[in-house]
Amino acid sequence: MKSIVYTGPKTLKYINVPKPRIKAHEVLLKIKSVGICGTDLHIYNGGMNLPTPLTMGHEFSGIVVEIGSQVQNFKINDRVTGEHVVSCGKCYYCLSGKPNLCPNSKVIGLQLPGALAEYLAIPAHLVYKLPAQLSFEEGAMIEPLSIAYYAAHKAGSLLDKKIVVIGQGPVGLLLDQVLQQSGAVVIGVDIASWRLQIAKRKKWANFVVNNQRQDLVQVLKKIAPWGADIAFEVVGQASTAELALEITRRGGEVFTLGVFETASKINLMNIVKKELNVHGSWTCAFSFLPSIELVAAKKIDLKSLITHRYRAQDGIRAFREAAAYQDKRIKTIINF
Ligand SMILES: [Zn+2]
Ligand SMILES: [Zn+2]
Repeated sequence: MKSIVYTGPKTLKYINVPKPRIKAHEVLLKIKSVGICGTDLHIYNGGMNLPTPLTMGHEFSGIVVEIGSQVQNFKINDRVTGEHVVSCGKCYYCLSGKPNLCPNSKVIGLQLPGALAEYLAIPAHLVYKLPAQLSFEEGAMIEPLSIAYYAAHKAGSLLDKKIVVIGQGPVGLLLDQVLQQSGAVVIGVDIASWRLQIAKRKKWANFVVNNQRQDLVQVLKKIAPWGADIAFEVVGQASTAELALEITRRGGEVFTLGVFETASKINLMNIVKKELNVHGSWTCAFSFLPSIELVAAKKIDLKSLITHRYRAQDGIRAFREAAAYQDKRIKTIINF
């Protein structure tokens, strides 16, 4: 089968690799759509030390074409999406409903072969059927939505809360939508004007702030005089983490989802003096089904985030262009 294979920094090959064989508890998917995300680009740029050759791709949809002997609930030609964290099912975290924290987990597209290939073997319990009204491209975007959904719902009651979302990339824009669905007043922050424009035009955020051109602290004084009730950091940089601590009101909550590539130096006195509650949010757990339901009910718009599409044979160009972060790009999808 054809696969887009990462062999080293900025090097991909579109080559033939052996078609995977399924185990008794797995299904084989014929891949239809795959999203490229920041993690994939980080790997592509050589920023993660993973064994090569590696087939990336952890945001995907496809069709069930083979079913393992122990698998029930699926039939051939089911249209599906799937989770990418394969947890052990036995450890303390798995048994206490936190499979996303499993220390023995392996991730499809990182430690395990990913979806940038014609076929993917995947444990059936990680697979979810797509309702007829969802396209394969939308199916590939359930994963980033589930990240946003999970983080938003860690925050508890969102009604009427003034919430700042720092970073308006795909996950940030999805977070805006999920938060607003729950009755929050959303303030979207970024330095890329086209991302803010879409958040504003689509009314995903109630307010948008370009924090390169505007002083967020000053703008917030009019919206939330005491500061934000909650801030989400969806960038992964020291400056934006610091900003989140700074603009959150005393006793407020900060959620960090950004992937920090280097150790950061930040002023922890903001946490101490303001009695901030700071939480991490890592991938997701039990968030695929509600995410699919939100899209099926047309409460979340995934389509508008897809700005760039490529065919599988143009996958190498897709990565090169996506890694440049230009052309008003939000989400890149590769279709097989
Ligand atoms: Zn991703
Ligand atoms: Zn485990």
